[in-house]
Amino acid sequence: MNLLFRSLYLLRPHWWSACLMMALILINSALGLLAPWPFKFLIDYALSDRKPPAWLLAWIGPDNFRLRLLYACAGTEIAIIFLHQLLMVWQTYLETRIEQCIDRDFRSRLFAHAMDLSLAYHDNRRSGMLIYIINSQGGAVASLLMTLPALLESVIMLIGMLIVLFMMHWTLAAVSFFVIPTLFFASRYYATKMKERIGRTKEMEGQSLSVIHEAMSMMRVIVAFCRQKLEHQRYINSAQRAIDARLGVTVRQTLFSLVIRMSTGIGRAVAWTFGGLLALAGKLTVGDLTIVLTYIEKVYDPLEAIAYTYSGWQDQFANLRASFGLLDTKPDIAEKPDPITVDECRGHIEFQHVDFAYEGRTDTLKDVTFNAKPGQVTAIVGPTGAGKTTLISLIPRFYDAVAGTILLDGVDIKELGLDSLRQHVSIVLQEPLLFSMTIKDNIRYGRLDATDDEIIAAARAANAHDFITRLPQGYDTPLGERGSRLSGGERQRVCVARAFLRDSPILILDEPTSSIDSKTEAVILDSLDRLMEGRTTFMIAHRLSTIRRADWILVMDQGRVVEQGTHDELLASNGLYRQLFELQNKQAERKAAARAIWSEA
Ligand code: ADP
Repeated sequence: MNLLFRSLYLLRPHWWSACLMMALILINSALGLLAPWPFKFLIDYALSDRKPPAWLLAWIGPDNFRLRLLYACAGTEIAIIFLHQLLMVWQTYLETRIEQCIDRDFRSRLFAHAMDLSLAYHDNRRSGMLIYIINSQGGAVASLLMTLPALLESVIMLIGMLIVLFMMHWTLAAVSFFVIPTLFFASRYYATKMKERIGRTKEMEGQSLSVIHEAMSMMRVIVAFCRQKLEHQRYINSAQRAIDARLGVTVRQTLFSLVIRMSTGIGRAVAWTFGGLLALAGKLTVGDLTIVLTYIEKVYDPLEAIAYTYSGWQDQFANLRASFGLLDTKPDIAEKPDPITVDECRGHIEFQHVDFAYEGRTDTLKDVTFNAKPGQVTAIVGPTGAGKTTLISLIPRFYDAVAGTILLDGVDIKELGLDSLRQHVSIVLQEPLLFSMTIKDNIRYGRLDATDDEIIAAARAANAHDFITRLPQGYDTPLGERGSRLSGGERQRVCVARAFLRDSPILILDEPTSSIDSKTEAVILDSLDRLMEGRTTFMIAHRLSTIRRADWILVMDQGRVVEQGTHDELLASNGLYRQLFELQNKQAERKAAARAIWSEA
């Protein structure tokens, strides 16, 4: 019920249209109730010898009464049907508009909320599942709300017809509705039994969508390892499980329909028999019997509709539980109630005894302390898995430290507004991630109000302008998914241009040249040198060529900063840095020797 009330609350912005729709439903229900009456008058007063009531005689006039009544009945029936259908058009328009608006608003809330959730949340969820919740299950709110008018119409019709029926012939009415308790208990039984099964089915349907989503984002690996058949099979298996579960649900739904239809069928048969007996005994006119039976027939329609709507809701409730579940997930990276806004930022970053651990891991970072002065370039080195990426992820609060403090210009970053903090940080990642839009729009992502000239200037600074102008569509070249139409080095230069445009005082470089050949690396390093100027920079680096540019070096091992200092100080101290340095030198010598052999050959 809570889910139903929460869904109803979403109707709030559309209350005026909803009220209008309710009024139309009431009028349409009344017109529905009126529809059989001309038929009764036709049978009772035009086709038989019964004496018509005085008001009917006065309205039709005594001359040629029967024929004129026949025409009047036909005309009235047409008028009722026409008005009914005309109002139905209006009602349907309003219904569709409200449904579409609620659908859009709710899905966009889910989408916005999913983007506000922390990276830790996304690390632990399959994105295909989130897409399923937003895209498929998010539509349940509007669908559920849109069943309400029809349900209400059914309830009004039911009440109206019951009143009229009981007034016309209460014994016949009472006999015909002995099936109502059966419908009630069957619906309750169905709802409680199906709740869990429907939830599980939805879960499986979401999983089979996740398989497709994951495969699409891993296309290169799949093609490279020729695993198309394996992925296809994985999808078939997962889809088959979902189909089996869905079949289980459908069989039960159909059995439920059978119970409902049998109950109403028995009800009808009893009404006909009992009504027939009354007519034979002369206690009912044929006209009255016709109208009573027409009403009983019509009462069963809303009764069945109510039972079906209630059982259909179980499917929607499963969707609602998933959608509201996503909305209720609190972002674990949240702003304080009165966040501080930093307009002017010098870029002074200080870590004080910072600890961090991913879910289910211990000591990913332990007691990390260092000081990065404004404009200082800090290199972070250490073996793989030492915690370098994790450390820089804490600066823009992708994750929150579990202990210790991180200060920006002397203020704890947890006191700052998230946007205010992140707008002062730009990041160039190891993997150059781009959108499928044009190169120009990708660079503009760094600052949305940038002019075309500023974009070109940023591209020049990133050594990207030349290769961009050589492309057939230049800056307007669309990049394909994840920027797939450019080489790794070109993509990375577009990312550097994006960072130039952002022009933020803090720069994070997460090994941006690690997967790039040494010639392209030189071009990118040249642009990065320009980018780093005057910015507090953190760079994760493996290559000596990049580490040497740093003013300060943090050496990490197993989540701890084991050494820190300048290049010369660390070499002199004979620790882990020196070992890494010598290893790098040996590798460089080996590469140089190999290159010499190749060129001789
Ligand atoms: P580095 O950048 O130095 O190679 P990372 O900071 O990426 O190291 O990782 C540090 C440790 O944290 C590793 O042991 C890694 O397995 C673990 N780790 C990294 N990312 C996650 C994650 N999202 N969830 C759980 N553990 C993670």
